[in-house]
Amino acid sequence: MKFADLGLSDELLKSIADAGYDEPTPIQAQAIPPVLMMKDIIGIAQTGTGKTASFVLPMIDILAHGRSRARMPRSLILEPTRELAAQVAENFEKYGKHHNLSMALLIGGVSMGDQIKDLEKGVDVLIATPGRLMDLFERGRILMSGCELLVIDEADRMLDMGFIPDIEEICSKLPATRQTMLFSATMPPPIKKLSDQFLNNPKYIEV
Ligand code: AMP
Repeated sequence: MKFADLGLSDELLKSIADAGYDEPTPIQAQAIPPVLMMKDIIGIAQTGTGKTASFVLPMIDILAHGRSRARMPRSLILEPTRELAAQVAENFEKYGKHHNLSMALLIGGVSMGDQIKDLEKGVDVLIATPGRLMDLFERGRILMSGCELLVIDEADRMLDMGFIPDIEEICSKLPATRQTMLFSATMPPPIKKLSDQFLNNPKYIEV
């Protein structure tokens, strides 16, 4: 399998070549085509399998097509920790360097004022930890009714950290017509329940 066979744009293939990758990893080869076809997916994959690029790459191509008229976030990536959220933001910068997408990182421990300013400018991609996102919701600073894409990453870690009620509430604020990708290293019953509730006929990928 080659990256060129997955349906990604030429600009993205350039960024991938610049990153020095020769071939897609198994999760990338299996996840990227259905995501580009707007399907929901469940990816059972550990960190280190290349799973970040398996959602960041197709998201860049989807978001690069068309711009939202409203200044509302078009996509949301939920991460359990600040460190993981910051890593995903770095991935967006690396792979999205030929695209003009705006991004906001909403994590605890940094000034909420700057995050609110970023939100007011309008963002394509929001990368957030559930706690800070809920805080901004409660202050009426975020509207998610224009969100087309949702990623719930490291779902089993979210469960261990007690974030499932927050995630359920966040999911219920997003349009039902959105596309959802859920990644987890394991599939304990509460994560299965979450995916049954919030994903629409997902393609199940296990690597
Ligand atoms: P992740 O599982 O997303 O944390 O990625 C693990 C590491 O693999 C990261 O350092 C990526 O830069 C790297 N990586 C991702 N995709 C590929 C690929 N197709 N070929 C080689 N390395 C990759």
